Amino acid sequence: MATGKAILGALRQELNLSDYRKKHWEGGFEEYLDIVRANPEVTRTAYQRLYDMIISHGTEEVYENKEKVTRYKFFTEFAAKHGDAIYGLDRPLMHLANQFKAAAKGYGTEKRVLLLHGPVGSSKSTIARLLKKGLEEYSRTDEGMLFSFAWKGDNNTWQKCPMHEDPLRLAPLELRPALLERLNEGRKPTEYDVLIQGDLCPFCRQMYTERVAKFDGDWNRMLEDVKVYRLILSEQDRIGIGTFQPKDEKNQDSTELTGDINYRKIAEYGTDSDPRAFNFDGELNIANRGLVEFIEVLKLDVAFLYDLLGASQEHKIKPKKFAQTDIDEVILGHTNEPEYRRLQNNEFMEALRDRTVKIDIPYVTRLKDEIRIYEKDFNADRVRGKHIAPHTIEIAAMWAVLTRLVQPKHANLTLLQKLKLYNGKTLPGFTEDNVVELKREALNEGMHGISPRYIQDKISNALVAHPQENCVNPFMVLQELDAGLRHHSLITSPEQLQHFRELLSVVKEEYEDLVKNEVQRAIAADEDALTRLCSNYIDNVKAYTQREKVRNRYTGNYEEPDERLMRSVEEKIDIPEGRKDDFRREIMNYIGALAIDGKRFDYKTNERLQKALEMKLFEDQKDTIKLTSLVSSVVDKATQEKIDVVKSRLIRNYGYCDVCSTDVLSFVASIFARGHAKK
Ligand SMILES: [Zn+2]
Ligand SMILES: [Zn+2]
Repeated sequence: MATGKAILGALRQELNLSDYRKKHWEGGFEEYLDIVRANPEVTRTAYQRLYDMIISHGTEEVYENKEKVTRYKFFTEFAAKHGDAIYGLDRPLMHLANQFKAAAKGYGTEKRVLLLHGPVGSSKSTIARLLKKGLEEYSRTDEGMLFSFAWKGDNNTWQKCPMHEDPLRLAPLELRPALLERLNEGRKPTEYDVLIQGDLCPFCRQMYTERVAKFDGDWNRMLEDVKVYRLILSEQDRIGIGTFQPKDEKNQDSTELTGDINYRKIAEYGTDSDPRAFNFDGELNIANRGLVEFIEVLKLDVAFLYDLLGASQEHKIKPKKFAQTDIDEVILGHTNEPEYRRLQNNEFMEALRDRTVKIDIPYVTRLKDEIRIYEKDFNADRVRGKHIAPHTIEIAAMWAVLTRLVQPKHANLTLLQKLKLYNGKTLPGFTEDNVVELKREALNEGMHGISPRYIQDKISNALVAHPQENCVNPFMVLQELDAGLRHHSLITSPEQLQHFRELLSVVKEEYEDLVKNEVQRAIAADEDALTRLCSNYIDNVKAYTQREKVRNRYTGNYEEPDERLMRSVEEKIDIPEGRKDDFRREIMNYIGALAIDGKRFDYKTNERLQKALEMKLFEDQKDTIKLTSLVSSVVDKATQEKIDVVKSRLIRNYGYCDVCSTDVLSFVASIFARGHAKK
């Protein structure tokens, strides 16, 4: 038998060729056996290859509410390179990767349709797109390489297997055990075992039969008519990557999935059951060895159900006029939440129900992750000629996340506070255990609400709607968000509309607080005054923690620490009376540690203390700058100078420009004026 001879006798294929030659490698079947001996992973199944591809990008462990979650860098780092990074979905993605792993190991998941399910505009299609991209790139690497073969025809022409099958399928059933034994000889347990699964496609079967007859049953001679080549997966070339999107329900045809008769060639071959007169170019054919994505899979006509089920459960498809044909590909479907609910009871779903593995891909519920989605498109590099005022993206993202959150059962917790807890902020009286509990009581969170796409559209609108304005600000975006709600197709009830509107007021209020704070801090950001206040505060804290007295710098007398001063600073950052000792001790410990290294304490290294000092200082001097005078049209020279200093601080420290710093100052002034009016 030539197989053993080929294995033992043929020269080792030097795989370390130049890149081009490697990717365009061609050779005989014998040489392929050498490759398989040295790199058994070239024969991996589609699921194994997909999972290994994801793993090849590395993983890291992150903690999400005390629980360890594996983050796959494929979905972050690799994805970022393609402008598609997915943030804030570590858990669903880990679930998905685990399904791939189970399928790779043959635990049964490989016989199911993987169904990504989530609200409109969650990252479902991004995930599918990334997996396809990842497979394409992986097939170009040494560790991800795979092979197929072509048949020698007349006049030195070559005809490739239309389904890019693995060359080992050319081995007849009776030879496979002996071949595998040799191919797997001495294999370490950590390595992949070479497997040969399935039979040749109808086209190759015809080629094979013809040649075996021509060479009088000599399989080895038949192989001389076969050329093996390196297979590079490519969606564009329809090699190993397929996409199926159902058109309108009336107009679906199974040939799109499993191929069609080539009427031009029937005349040539005399019959429509000759595989040479058939195009094996349906999506399930061409996606063999890789992945096929079914967009909105539930819209698939029920007539296709059996194609889909056969493909997933049996790994077989049935092209018209031909026998069942073996396939090896990952089948990934996705569906929108509204569509899923609508179809839950139809015939198609009934049949699919226990044959799918449903993976929920929700919206993001952590503010920082949501912000990153928009910052990708709306940043100073992408948006030219217009300044995005501070908090514009943040406020829009905040509203989007709020619409997705479930009202907490906890009576003392507002939706906005819940959002802040999710975002990693600590609130007095709430621990991380509470956050875990909050998540547990709202398992469906993120499956409803406003999609990032709506937000993106409205930010775009706001950017173009005011051509005469220099900056786009949160009010312009909020106005667009509000205006669009009336025509929003996914808002199903007046109550929901009402709720979303109320949330717009919530974020508006939050914005007022944010800018009030910023302006106050900018007013107070006089460094000398802050340093003086800081050392005064620290002197008192030091005396307090060491139970000593403080020397009054003015009179030289020793006095009790000034409790009122310390509290008035601490209250600015919500340090409750019961926590003040801890806070003061922490600061003294920090200063002590610095002193050991010979360093001096600088309030700017402690963000919270800095904020507290600035706000205290603002309180002390708020009457020296008459902010409210900004709303009147007449400003005296001295006030204008002070205002200019504040403006320059807003620009330097908070990202405002000349225009929006003026706007925000008058806005905050009007808030204070309103406040005074109330009193
Ligand atoms: Zn074939
Ligand atoms: Zn601006």
